[in-house]
Amino acid sequence: MIQKLNEFEALPQISIVIPMYDEEPNIDHLFERLFAVMSNIKADFEIICVNDGSSDRTLALLLKYHNLHPEIKVIDLSRNFGKEIALTAGIDYAVGQAVIPLDADLQDPPELIAELISRWQEGYDVVYAVRRSRQGESWLKRFTSKVFYKCIRQVSSTSIPADTGDFRLLDRCVVEALKQLPERTRFMKGLFAWVGYRQTHIYFDRPERHEGQTSWNYWQLWNLAIEGIASFSTAPLKIWLYVGSVIAALAFLYATFLILRTLIFGIDIAGYASLMVVILFLGGIQLLTLGVLGEYLGRVYEEVKGRPLYFVREQYGFPTSSAGREQKSAIDPPVQSERF
Ligand code: UDP
Ligand code: MG
Repeated sequence: MIQKLNEFEALPQISIVIPMYDEEPNIDHLFERLFAVMSNIKADFEIICVNDGSSDRTLALLLKYHNLHPEIKVIDLSRNFGKEIALTAGIDYAVGQAVIPLDADLQDPPELIAELISRWQEGYDVVYAVRRSRQGESWLKRFTSKVFYKCIRQVSSTSIPADTGDFRLLDRCVVEALKQLPERTRFMKGLFAWVGYRQTHIYFDRPERHEGQTSWNYWQLWNLAIEGIASFSTAPLKIWLYVGSVIAALAFLYATFLILRTLIFGIDIAGYASLMVVILFLGGIQLLTLGVLGEYLGRVYEEVKGRPLYFVREQYGFPTSSAGREQKSAIDPPVQSERF
């Protein structure tokens, strides 16, 4: 028991989780700034880097740093799973009392970590960083992002904060809650908001990417938006009840009109245009409805398959018992509310 307690005492207080996909040009600068920040914060920390199937030298560089600094731990995923899954893997392996997801491209300035921690020490469980401004993003990206947040606010009962990425501080109790969410389609921003707890925010100006290019194109962003809405709202399913009712009511009125007209004025062969319009319109609506059903059905299919979220090819710097998600209970530290 005593040995166990000591083991927990030695656990780091802060875990920084960094998903990385082809981030070779950013790594040196990232660690330089991160270590500068962490040396001013009097807390034990670990930096968990998740290599999300990079095709460049990201892993080799990470291992070099891991050998120099034992605080840096590396999870090498078996392939590219995407940011949301890579982040989930990192959070699963983190043991700190506070967990901070961070982008590798320095768009989430590490200097803000001190402010996140000080708000956490005030007693908040989640401190998220809201982008006051976004440099290096096109007008179209800012506009589409605004529209997305407006839509999701309308249709979802979970209030997902606008202009907020994954950069935030999560208390251990929130991390434990997140680990209990088994879904495979993971819209992390939504999940962070869904779990609740005492949340607050700070503001920052989001700089441009340090090096390299964003791996998101508009098609992927569109899919992420669909993911967010379909995972956090069933409004798109329900809306067809109302659309269908209105169309049925209009069709009924039009049918009554046609019957009366035929009775009063006799049979009229003309009517090709109106028939076509009605057929095309109803056909279009039906296809649209099928599409929406398909979105949800696809998600149900993904979930029932019950596949593991990710596979780890190799892990560096973790105790041998660490096995992330599947055996997590074996390594879970006790939930402590103490903030150092
Ligand atoms: N990322 C990842 N897997 C991916 C794509 C991105 O782990 O498939 C990481 C990437 O290395 C970075 C973070 O997710 O640390 C954010 O990616 P990016 O800068 O491309 O996104 P943006 O800042 O444009 O939202
Ligand atoms: Mg970025």
